[in-house]
Amino acid sequence: MRTKLVAGNWKMNLTAAQGAALVESFAKQVAVRYDVDVVVCPSFLSIPKVRDTVRHQGILIGAQDVFWKDEGAFTGQVSAKQLAEQSVAFCIVGHSETRGRFGKLETPESTVPFFAETDETVNLKIERLLFHGITPILCVGETLAEREAGTTDQIIEGQLRAALAGRDASELYGLVIAYEPVWAIGTGQTCAADEAERICRFIRSVVEALADNEVAIHVRILYGGSVKADNAKELFSKPNIDGGLVGGASLDAAGFAAIIMSA
Ligand code: PEP
Repeated sequence: MRTKLVAGNWKMNLTAAQGAALVESFAKQVAVRYDVDVVVCPSFLSIPKVRDTVRHQGILIGAQDVFWKDEGAFTGQVSAKQLAEQSVAFCIVGHSETRGRFGKLETPESTVPFFAETDETVNLKIERLLFHGITPILCVGETLAEREAGTTDQIIEGQLRAALAGRDASELYGLVIAYEPVWAIGTGQTCAADEAERICRFIRSVVEALADNEVAIHVRILYGGSVKADNAKELFSKPNIDGGLVGGASLDAAGFAAIIMSA
């Protein structure tokens, strides 16, 4: 069966020292768990210190984003090759904050779309990450307007098809996909567990169509969007929800430990 996975996305919070203190604190509370993969995604600068702090605690390191070229004149960007050198095991791609808010939707400058995430750059990032042995955590999800228009499934299928185009089934066994309804991120509004399960089951069916049944069985599908200690248990008990991508609640040691214990 699939091992549950709980990933904390710290976003642009915590200094390296604060991040190290946080992981030490929750690692003590959960001890080493072999039945749950625990991942923390600090900002790039904090990765080395946090990684060294958790080295023997069974906690894995993820990055929050990556650029889609290995090297070159791309000021301010970080490549998958550089992340691999730092023992980064996972990397978030297609998060709604990097797809939308930092992208062309809010600013007209012509250079911005080049650095923002589109379906095309998400695809390129996944290709580079897999090449360097880093597991992508591919985020997909609809906005409130899309949900209200009844296009949720169509939007998610489109994001999955674009992100995974060109990948061979053999590359996708370890893939992690996070269903993150945009309207639930950081809002305190959680998707009802039955609906989250329905979408995660739908995601698995799309993966089956794009790859094959074996891949669909292996791929881990997380739910993300205002996961807290008090709703994690119900969400994680659903057959197609293999854990969570946790933002705000991962910044609190006791809360994050409780979420991990729910898995
Ligand atoms: C996220 O940013 O991926 C997220 C799920 O955030 P939050 O848990 O704060 O809604």
